[in-house]
Amino acid sequence: YEEEMTLGQIAELCYHITSTFLKLQIASTTELTRNTQEAVLRTRSYFLNDIFTQWDPLNSEISFAYNGGKDCQVLLLLYLSALWEHYMLGICKSQYDQAYHNFPLKKLPTVFINSNETFPALESFISMTVNRYHLSLYEDKKYGCSSDMASEFERYLELNPSTKAIVIGVRHTDPFGEKLKTIQMTDSNWPQFIRLQPLLEWNLANVWSFLLYSGEPICPLYRYGYTSLGGVNDTIPNPYLKREVVSDEDKTFKFQFELENSVGYSPENVTKRWETQDPNLIELGEQYLPGWYLLEDFKERAGRIKKC
Ligand code: FAD
Ligand code: MG
Ligand code: MG
Repeated sequence: YEEEMTLGQIAELCYHITSTFLKLQIASTTELTRNTQEAVLRTRSYFLNDIFTQWDPLNSEISFAYNGGKDCQVLLLLYLSALWEHYMLGICKSQYDQAYHNFPLKKLPTVFINSNETFPALESFISMTVNRYHLSLYEDKKYGCSSDMASEFERYLELNPSTKAIVIGVRHTDPFGEKLKTIQMTDSNWPQFIRLQPLLEWNLANVWSFLLYSGEPICPLYRYGYTSLGGVNDTIPNPYLKREVVSDEDKTFKFQFELENSVGYSPENVTKRWETQDPNLIELGEQYLPGWYLLEDFKERAGRIKKC
């Protein structure tokens, strides 16, 4: 990831990722990939037809809640892709030639509530992706943070008053996620703004299908057995991924098609996407299968332990 792209260029790359994913030959795709293609189409339509028609993504009415996890990364790729389409559609309506237009955003408004003690590998993944995706990351830590998320967002809104809506990578299978809606107001005990949740219908397997296809870097913790990332003190690798307890059938990699067809794929470079120097992590890899071997949503948080 040496050469630095602009926000417009990375948005165009994300558009390339989604459009090539949608064109993958149906005949050779598994049912799971087909199902993920439908999920991509649905999320794309939420952004283009329901969200960007009400809130302008190009003038800081929309912010993005980002914590470096797989779900918000997938949603960020889809958001950037839709942003590119939205921008190109605007240009087509313009009387001026495409050459006279510049992508109007330099940075994407993003907010990270960093109150947990975060894994070093996640911290460095976040910094790397902040550069790669041109996020103007607001971090509450810099302001000395309180304990609850709602008041952190209250302060964010005070400091960023143009924000009307925030994109969140929550899914129906998350705790309390069952009844959420794609577009809804925050609850009454939260500061009032619109929640945009266009990833609700995705399941765990869809997330891995698309992320492994994307060719984008993936937080190395997932490679070493983690499936859901909380703080350092309350997160362990997922016990269902312990090599000694996994059945032979579940030891087969289900995303070979995605990986072999992934954007920019080469057999030599693929592991660079989740490379780490952290010896503790590498050691875990001997005991645990990668996070993407676990496909059942209800087991996703089995590595989250209660603080004693
Ligand atoms: P995760 O998979 O960890 O997170 C789901 C998504 O939440 C992520 O993809 C990311 O987009 C966002 N997110 C999670 N943690 C962070 C973080 N530390 N910093 C930035 N973004 C993060 N709950 C209510 O009960 N009522 C509400 O009105 C309400 N409004 C919310 C508004 C926003 C903008 C956010 C981010 C959360 C809100 N929540 C609300 C809480 C939300 O429903 C989830 O409980 C919360 O995001 C934690 O998710 P998780 O850890 O269960 O799952
Ligand atoms: Mg999640
Ligand atoms: Mg979380």
